[in-house]
Amino acid sequence: MTHAMQQTDDSVLELFQSRMTNGYIRREDIRQELANSGILRDDPRVKLLYHALDLCEERISEESFHELVAYAPTLIEQIFRGSLIVPDFPSFCSKLRTFFHDTAAQKQGSVATYIPQLARVDPDKFAVAVCTIDGQRVALGDADDFFCVQSCSKPLTYLLALEELGDEVHKFVGREPSGKTFNELTLNAKGLPHNPMINAGAIMCCALIKQGRDPADKFDHILQRWREAAAGMRVGFNNAVYLSERQTADRNFALGYFMREKNAFPEKVDLLQTLEFYFQCCSIELTAASLATVASTLANGGMCPLTGQQVFQPDYVKNCLSLMSSCGMYDFSGEFAFRVGLPAKSGVSGVVMVVIPNVMGLCIWSPRLDELGNSVRGVEFCKRLVDNFSFHTFDRVNGLQRSKLDATKSLSEQERAWKISFIWSAAVGDIPEMRRLIARGTNPSSPDYDGRTALHVAASEGKAAAVEFLLERDIDLSPVDRWHHTPLDDAIRHEHVDVQALLLQAGAKTHSQLQEEAVQ
Ligand code: GLN
Repeated sequence: MTHAMQQTDDSVLELFQSRMTNGYIRREDIRQELANSGILRDDPRVKLLYHALDLCEERISEESFHELVAYAPTLIEQIFRGSLIVPDFPSFCSKLRTFFHDTAAQKQGSVATYIPQLARVDPDKFAVAVCTIDGQRVALGDADDFFCVQSCSKPLTYLLALEELGDEVHKFVGREPSGKTFNELTLNAKGLPHNPMINAGAIMCCALIKQGRDPADKFDHILQRWREAAAGMRVGFNNAVYLSERQTADRNFALGYFMREKNAFPEKVDLLQTLEFYFQCCSIELTAASLATVASTLANGGMCPLTGQQVFQPDYVKNCLSLMSSCGMYDFSGEFAFRVGLPAKSGVSGVVMVVIPNVMGLCIWSPRLDELGNSVRGVEFCKRLVDNFSFHTFDRVNGLQRSKLDATKSLSEQERAWKISFIWSAAVGDIPEMRRLIARGTNPSSPDYDGRTALHVAASEGKAAAVEFLLERDIDLSPVDRWHHTPLDDAIRHEHVDVQALLLQAGAKTHSQLQEEAVQ
């Protein structure tokens, strides 16, 4: 047996021992643990594992556990060690359910009516789905209903254009928000569409993809890429939507002719075919669940979390997310970047696709739109999400009060680490580090498991400067540890006269003084 294999065996044994009682693990417990972690049965990475699990005995021995783990070694290890990107997935899901429930109360807005097929959709439909970069999934509401992606097709169209032409794409389309509605009859100063996230820019990208190829090949190509980004889930096409988009497309035709008049297109572009391809892209259908997987592929730098396939190149994904951040939410893009701070794209079918880079993708679908064309509940849900979790890109700025939850850390794991680090810095008198940790939101009065605070240890070690630094903050002056000592007791016991003076001057007490005061 090689050394590497030996190591693997050892770690599998460790995993087994972490869960076993009386020499075995219950099959049900493994099933439960997989489900809790958000790794679902239809996940291609665990299909065989689930199948093998079904064939196992009720009680799983060490030997059968070894065989089971072999079906998905890395994943099982991540699940059992709690190292998936959202370690406490059940708590995260329960928060999502609350946001979902609260957002469902919103009945404002109205469905898009520019084509009958959209006007007929049930306005009360509502779905939220999430897929993390480790493939943890949850879906709420009507997450298995198909709807057309509409403008949510634009990021993919842009990615495919980049894939073929690289930065050349931007010889044909700008990167600046237009400040106008998505179908405004306007081009930038160079006579080019402002960006790929509005109609003119998306029509341009449609012209750039597989130039000169048969329209059927072009469509197959884009459909295939959608499927790959969605881990092979079904991607549909709504022919009725396509036909009526085509019927009622004066504005998009106008945009096309306007660009042609300005010589914006590359040579030999067939305008009619390009527009038809654009309408087809808008009429592609996904579910909230599958679109969340597409969003997670973008969040994961272009690699689909469920299949491990590199669908898009990371540098192009970066370009795409940048433009989604500045131009993805129509005329609300600036406000959305300010308030929510995440790359997103919305479509008139009421869909919002949100990307939290290196964490997860989300899809919210609810057909009622606000006056700017964004899903009312979609925007509302995003607000709730970032009000509770530190997902806004700039939530990481130093000095912010950490009142939000970090879904990527297990419960208070991070706070605990900072607290211990703070107490440790006080013990060695490292004031710059103490400042930094306070700026991150560490409470300077927090005690450790033994009730020892930073003031206790600084007093015990005679670190006068650290004591002085702490006394300038609004802290508890006489906390009592598990051995009934206050910081003043510690300073006396260790004969640090300068520290004693500082503490007395600030009004700190010994434990016996506190007790006397309590009696009075
Ligand atoms: N099919 C719509 C159009 O081109 C898509 C626009 C959208 O979702 N904003 O007008």
